[in-house]
Amino acid sequence: MSPSSTPPRALTIAGSDSGGGAGIQADLRTFNACRVHGTTAITAVTVQDTVRVSDFVEIPVGIVVGQIEAVIADIGVQAVKTGMLASAEIIRAVARTCDRWGIGRSGDVPLVVDPVAASMHGDSLLRSDALEALRSELIPRATLVTPNLDELRLLTGVRVRSSSDLGPAASALLRLGPAAALVKSGHLTNEPDCVDLYDDGEQRIELPSKRFETANTHGGGDTFAAAITAALASGKPLVDAVWFGKQLISEAVRDSYPLGAGYGPVAPSPR
Ligand code: PLP
Repeated sequence: MSPSSTPPRALTIAGSDSGGGAGIQADLRTFNACRVHGTTAITAVTVQDTVRVSDFVEIPVGIVVGQIEAVIADIGVQAVKTGMLASAEIIRAVARTCDRWGIGRSGDVPLVVDPVAASMHGDSLLRSDALEALRSELIPRATLVTPNLDELRLLTGVRVRSSSDLGPAASALLRLGPAAALVKSGHLTNEPDCVDLYDDGEQRIELPSKRFETANTHGGGDTFAAAITAALASGKPLVDAVWFGKQLISEAVRDSYPLGAGYGPVAPSPR
């Protein structure tokens, strides 16, 4: 790429983490590491340090939609990711806006839905009425949905206790209607390796990586989904984008660092 050419563009629709580890901040860091220009539609602002999320406020729906439409109309977008969406009202508005702009499994622009429900501290990032909206309005439009095991249980009722439960879990997710599902097994700490499972109904692929002994994994889910989104924006096919994301997140966990009194962030390195 010559210095004056326009890079691919990705949009993240997500919340702000004042601690700089997760959310919008993680997405932009990852897009940048992947040489993709990141644009943002901020849905909520969290009051957050490395120990807890003590509060958050939602952005008015008209401003969320306004951000999406402004950047798409002027800058364009090759892939979209959603993270913390906070409320049913925001989820419904994002779903309608995706339809309007051809974003999602039946449009031209891939949509990665990271169904963020809670922080790793256990603090909720989603109002209680929003889970059903996520399940019925947004996930059926997704090119790829990327839950961790807690989010998977909330969405499908399936509880994963070992890697042998991942297949049925992926099938349960696909029944919600996304084009593909990626079940992340980072929380299966009793397993020696970290084997995630990709399933698009035609292919089921195991993605193994080494498990690093660290508690500094804040923003890991966001970083993984953002890396996949960046790869999609750069034109990679979905399965290649998932492998790219797996490699990036594995190295980012290896390179994570301590911060504050709680959990430090993962650190994506430039590609
Ligand atoms: N804060 C915001 C704004 C987020 O979007 C997320 C996750 O997506 C988190 C916090 C939680 O990240 P983690 O579970 O890695 O701590």
